[in-house]
Amino acid sequence: MSADIRLDTPPDTSKELIRFENVTKRFGDTTVLDNLCFSVQPGKHVTLIGPSGSGKTTILRLLMTLESPEEGTIQVNGDRLFPAPEKERREARKQIGMVFQQFNLFPNMTALRNITEAPVRVLGMSKDEAEERAKELLDLVGLGDRCDAKPTQLSGGQQQRVAIARALAMRPQVLLLDEVTSALDPELVAGVLDVLRDIARSTDITMLCVTHEMNFARDISDEVLMFDAGKVIESGSPEKIFSEPEHERTREFLGAVL
Ligand code: ADP
Repeated sequence: MSADIRLDTPPDTSKELIRFENVTKRFGDTTVLDNLCFSVQPGKHVTLIGPSGSGKTTILRLLMTLESPEEGTIQVNGDRLFPAPEKERREARKQIGMVFQQFNLFPNMTALRNITEAPVRVLGMSKDEAEERAKELLDLVGLGDRCDAKPTQLSGGQQQRVAIARALAMRPQVLLLDEVTSALDPELVAGVLDVLRDIARSTDITMLCVTHEMNFARDISDEVLMFDAGKVIESGSPEKIFSEPEHERTREFLGAVL
């Protein structure tokens, strides 16, 4: 693994990297997150599982500042994301990268350019340095020979691997993964999950992951949080959650998906 995707500064293990405190999010009359509290320690891989509509994606969207909570505080690496003045929010937000279900690559740009665009524009990195790093990241995701391909020339799985490289190019402290294989044809899923397993194993990046791929969750997670109706109803190691779930709702959910 290239040392290049290691963090500039190793995670400060004395701090929580993500902290949700009494967070409530409503859409109209519907309470989607209900006084939610949880935290993620630096370098850990935490997976959110639970039935559709239980609020998992909303958590990732709050961290990306694509939504705002009605109540509560959200912190990233000690910086306030909510409530916070715009400048502090931007600083907190910079530490987060996200990979979406739909890969959202720029269709008119090559794989390489998709990855260099934000580091050059947002971080002010030189074009040469950004390209060198982008090539290393494309190598990392197994696409070192496809630098010049446009998204339409790549399979869905390859596009998603470019999207992973693009998120890492911003050197985030936290990588958010939202059902990253659910839009893929079944035969392309394994390649993407293998890349993520590799990254989880060999880097110190913190991961917060929403997935229905239970084997993947079992492999990469340090902790699994089971959601139901906007609350964490059970949490623990993957061994505990998958082998000895305590909550009836967890047993029902796992019974339906495993
Ligand atoms: P999950 O990821 O667990 O499937 P979500 O966080 O996507 O759950 O959604 C939780 C609930 O919030 C669902 O009932 C969904 O319909 C609702 N919801 C999500 N986004 C919006 C929105 N922008 N407007 C209205 N309702 C929304």
